[in-house]
Amino acid sequence: MLVMKFGGSSVADRVQIEKVRKIVRDRLPRKPVVVCSAHKGMTNALIAAGKAAASGKQDPEREVIERQREIARECGCEDTLLEPFFQEIADLLRGVRLVRELSPRSLDYISSFGERMSVRVIADLFARNGLPCQAFDVWDLGFLTDARFGAARPLPGYEAWMKDAFATRVPEGVIPIVTGFIGKTEGGEITTVGRNGSDLTATLIAAALDAEEVEIWSDTDGVMSADPHLVKGARNIPTMSFDEAAELAYFGSRVLHPETLIPAMRKNIPVRVLNTNRPEHPGTVITRTPGDRPQAVTSIAYKENQSILTVRSERMFAHAGFLAELFQATTRHGLVVDMVATSEVSVSLSAADAELLRAVAADISHLGEIRIDTGKTILAVVGHNLPTQAGAAAHITTAVANAGVNIEMLSYASGSINVSMVIDDRDVDVAVRTLHTQLFE
Ligand code: ASP
Ligand code: MG
Repeated sequence: MLVMKFGGSSVADRVQIEKVRKIVRDRLPRKPVVVCSAHKGMTNALIAAGKAAASGKQDPEREVIERQREIARECGCEDTLLEPFFQEIADLLRGVRLVRELSPRSLDYISSFGERMSVRVIADLFARNGLPCQAFDVWDLGFLTDARFGAARPLPGYEAWMKDAFATRVPEGVIPIVTGFIGKTEGGEITTVGRNGSDLTATLIAAALDAEEVEIWSDTDGVMSADPHLVKGARNIPTMSFDEAAELAYFGSRVLHPETLIPAMRKNIPVRVLNTNRPEHPGTVITRTPGDRPQAVTSIAYKENQSILTVRSERMFAHAGFLAELFQATTRHGLVVDMVATSEVSVSLSAADAELLRAVAADISHLGEIRIDTGKTILAVVGHNLPTQAGAAAHITTAVANAGVNIEMLSYASGSINVSMVIDDRDVDVAVRTLHTQLFE
């Protein structure tokens, strides 16, 4: 069994959905389970409609519904296919407008329509063109989640429920076309796993069903050595390890949702990243043991708009428990820390959430002199040979220096496959381009 996930741009319109149909058709013997995102831009449009409703706008749903109706019509679907959804969207947004409030729960509910409608359009078009298939909301296949709206995760035991549901609800020979991104609590409330989360849905389903492989179809030739929008010479990486791909996804490579690889790693299921617009391209295969590759560096990723907290204190000098106090505060506030660097009398840490970082700062003012810097980028250079290649770090930092860019913070843990540094947001373009030229070209 093969799990195939198609992102928003892969199912943007009829032209794209036809490409998907051919790709799926070519894989019929592998018994595909197809996971789809909403049509490109739909989730954003739904969220915007929700916000407009909360601020009192009349008929906030009009634009999204028109857009969705147009895609359905060009795909040859009857208007009746989506009418119940349009009605439900209008009702929901009327409610939001009346209470003038968009709670995380309502936001997930409104966001869910993109996937619920896209799978129906896709399955309808496929079925009329000779592919036996059926649309499913993922919760009808056992994907029940906790109630963390916007970041929901499947409940323990979901794997057995899914196995059972696939066996009993999906008729033999029928390809299930399943919603990515969304879920439902046991109490019946709709949730989402988080923005761009359909990748994660796909690997979670694959883990539950012990799939032979997961294919993530988007619009680049697999994982690239750097962001191809920024670096013209960016090239495809044919194979990489789960660890490398996970670091890259976490540190901003936009091809995969950061958590995508965790379920695949757990079950040792290869993940292949492919291009819907060039299905013949081999893309990138991510596995536990990608085989030997001589180069030190695999890829460069970056995450902009980060904030840095620095604490300076003489008290830190030869004092036990100083860092413990600091991290107790970050834990109390639920702050996710990405990078840490220390000297004898100061410690810096980076995080994405500036507001939480300020709350932490207020809490630890007694520890020493505190500074917060915003508008920073974490630049991560990832490669499985980094821990063993002499001079690799020097090569990387020299390249950044040659770009005239100041490194404000630097972190490399023993044995790590990731050299990460903090630079100013405005230096990203030049730093990434120069690094790429010097490390790859
Ligand atoms: N449609 C959702 C989003 O735009 C999920 C996804 O695309 O993976 O965030
Ligand atoms: Mg998407």
